[in-house]
Amino acid sequence: MVITRFAPSPTGYLHIGGLRTALYCYLWARKCGGKFLLRIEDTDLARNSKEAADAIVEAFKWVGLAHDGEIVYQSNRFELYKTYVQQLLDEGKAYKCYMSKEELDTLREEQSARKERPRYDGRYRDFTGTPPHGVEPVIRIKAPLEGMIVLHDGIKGEVHFNVADMLDDFIIARSDGTPTYNFVVTIDDALMGVTDVIRGDDHLSNTPKQIVIYNAFDFAIPKFFHVPMILNPDGKKLSKRDGATDVMDYEKEGFLPETLLNFLVRLGWSHGDQEIFSMEEMLEWFDPNSINKSASAYNQEKLLWLNAHYIKEISIERLVELLKPFGVDISLHGNKERLVEMLRERAKTIKEFAVMVQQIIEAPNSYDEVAVQKCITSETKALLSAYQEALHVSTPTQGAEVFTKAFLESKGAKLKDLAPALRIAMVGTAVSPAIFDVLEVIGFNDVQERIQKLLSTLKE
Ligand code: GLU
Repeated sequence: MVITRFAPSPTGYLHIGGLRTALYCYLWARKCGGKFLLRIEDTDLARNSKEAADAIVEAFKWVGLAHDGEIVYQSNRFELYKTYVQQLLDEGKAYKCYMSKEELDTLREEQSARKERPRYDGRYRDFTGTPPHGVEPVIRIKAPLEGMIVLHDGIKGEVHFNVADMLDDFIIARSDGTPTYNFVVTIDDALMGVTDVIRGDDHLSNTPKQIVIYNAFDFAIPKFFHVPMILNPDGKKLSKRDGATDVMDYEKEGFLPETLLNFLVRLGWSHGDQEIFSMEEMLEWFDPNSINKSASAYNQEKLLWLNAHYIKEISIERLVELLKPFGVDISLHGNKERLVEMLRERAKTIKEFAVMVQQIIEAPNSYDEVAVQKCITSETKALLSAYQEALHVSTPTQGAEVFTKAFLESKGAKLKDLAPALRIAMVGTAVSPAIFDVLEVIGFNDVQERIQKLLSTLKE
């Protein structure tokens, strides 16, 4: 059975790069009928917090990625890790190292004077003497001293790590007894039965160390997939400056979870030239073996394009709910279907959509001065006033289009003579969705009131 895991370190919020990794892990596990586990790597008590761990869980809920089983918190497992450190000590595969900080510094200086790579020299590897007094030892693992560690990565292909260039007997437990990062990752992946590790390629250099630990315990080595980074359009690492990087900011900016998942699945993976993927299609076609080898660039235009697509697709009921957090409640609006249909074509985000809806459902408080200057003349004012009068005399029973066209004909005027001023009266600017739709949604009573309001403002 395929078992994947997402293993974030909770230092702040869930980064979209992290969400992409989680999505890949999720898709692969679900596609294979396996399991997708969530492990919070919170052993760095100074940098990790419960709030940050909760923020990750909240982001998962928002996008709808369900993990299997209980969340594993590494901070609850220190005792367990200790037993595994002890096992290696007992088996002679790890040893206590009593080197002081001063000794280590001296060694580093000597090595750098000889232009050598700083590397622990193994001086306690076979130590049998009496330990120096008062020094709490660290525990180091006996790593291979030479040769190659070969990784068969599902994305990078075969990667060779030359032991002499990058390994030494690295520390698996600090002098205060706490286990180190690579040790706990490996123990947990093995104990949780993880078969496929999909993670960012910033972890590639940790992998040979983890392989040393797998081998020390005779644990089966999982398949690894090291996913290239997401870059900004300038080819640099994506950062806050490039826009939102916190998953929950996307919700605040009015993006839909399906937009974000669709966007992320394509950032580094493709299926022909298809851009729009339902969850079912992702599950059908995703395969970590076909993740791109090169880094992918974040593209805000595409994100907006996808969001506009999904805003057009989803149900009216859902849109009505999505508007509420943006302070717009149209659940009781008599013409909400038409209102939504008229505007959803134009909105790229729910936030933008909310502003448009607000513009229609509330009479404008001010008018775009440039538009007023340009479009309102004594003729248009007279025409607008006559239109309002006609509405006042008898509320039309026919639709806005039929009524307005008949009115214009009776005046020997054209729609272009009236429409800009009418738009200003309705929404405060000369730009709006199709004017007849706007009139219908607003309703003739309010149309009249809005015209009156504009005319009286112009008088002042
Ligand atoms: N905790 C690590 C991180 O947040 C990931 C570890 C892993 O996936 O192996 O970057």
